[in-house]
Amino acid sequence: MTSLWISDVRPWGGPAVDLHVADGVFVATPSGPEAQVVRGGGRIALPAMVDAHAHLDKTSWGKPYRPHSAGGTLADLIDNERSHRSDLGPVRERAGALLDRHIERGVLHIRSHVDVDPAIGLDSVTGVLAAAAERAGRVTVEVVAFPQSGVLTRPGTAELMADAVDAGAQLIGGLDPAGFDGDPIRHLDTVFGIAADKQVGLDIHLHDRGTLGAWQIERIVERTKALGLAGKVTIAHCYALSTVDDVRQGSLIELLASADIALTTTVPGTTPQLPLARLAAAGVRVGLGHDGVRDLWSPYGTGDLLDKALMLAVTSGYRQDADIARTVRIATEGGAGVLRLPDYGLEPGCRANLVLLPAESLVEAVTQRPLDRTVIAGGVVL
Ligand SMILES: [Zn+2]
Repeated sequence: MTSLWISDVRPWGGPAVDLHVADGVFVATPSGPEAQVVRGGGRIALPAMVDAHAHLDKTSWGKPYRPHSAGGTLADLIDNERSHRSDLGPVRERAGALLDRHIERGVLHIRSHVDVDPAIGLDSVTGVLAAAAERAGRVTVEVVAFPQSGVLTRPGTAELMADAVDAGAQLIGGLDPAGFDGDPIRHLDTVFGIAADKQVGLDIHLHDRGTLGAWQIERIVERTKALGLAGKVTIAHCYALSTVDDVRQGSLIELLASADIALTTTVPGTTPQLPLARLAAAGVRVGLGHDGVRDLWSPYGTGDLLDKALMLAVTSGYRQDADIARTVRIATEGGAGVLRLPDYGLEPGCRANLVLLPAESLVEAVTQRPLDRTVIAGGVVL
């Protein structure tokens, strides 16, 4: 039995305490002498960060910088990726390099959408799963079988998404049922049909704005309830929520809460941010994601979720401490709620996955994002 004593740390920036770990799990009191001591020195302790929306298969992390070559539309971006993705090298290596960066920064749980289409088949899914398996015990990766090139517009993709679940993917994805695939009813019936058949959840990209997006949220809620999938569905981006009027926004939030549908944001640069306070008040689970990191879609991303938390705080116009601290909660326990991570947190009984940060407060953790971090996974100091 391995044990660890983490002295003088401040959970969530609160009063200093000692934390005790036995066999990878927090315990209230140690039952014997502890093998290893980590001196916290008054640092903040946070449970490991959770990237609730990543694209590990797309990254060029660890490779030379490649100038952006895509046009401005979603279709241009998808075509550009299909033309150049084979230049980037094996998914396993690139995804692994990015996972190593996540681990170093204390991001130990990741939900990654991974492309599935007839040209690449399941290669990217198996590549990401292999990279994750090589880092088992340090990081967990949940894979969404993602139809980046469309479901209806790319025949054969639906069958491959079902096969991806057999290969180890945990969720079925979707992409702009109206705006990209052009037939929202058939798109949603297809992806919900696979998920119901395979008994897995869904995580659907929805960039469609305004009333078109709102109408699709309502259709997603209907199907979630009809198929008994409440609590197992996530909508990613969900720009519609921040581009309809206040009344419609309120009724959509009520609907999302009624089906226990979660949302993830990757902090868009060109759309108003999600109404986080209103979502929290309604009990809607919200997670934060890095989205693509240095890939054929954009040159941005560092693998550090605190950088995204800062962007979320700035673009939401936050200045109050409680608002800025909310972004840390979303980057940690918010994502854990979206992924339904068991045993997550800093209390006795939780798995000892945590990061220690030299910051005075949660606000300083976001505004300064200190790099001198101690990352502990399953009670092992990494
Ligand atoms: Zn995405």
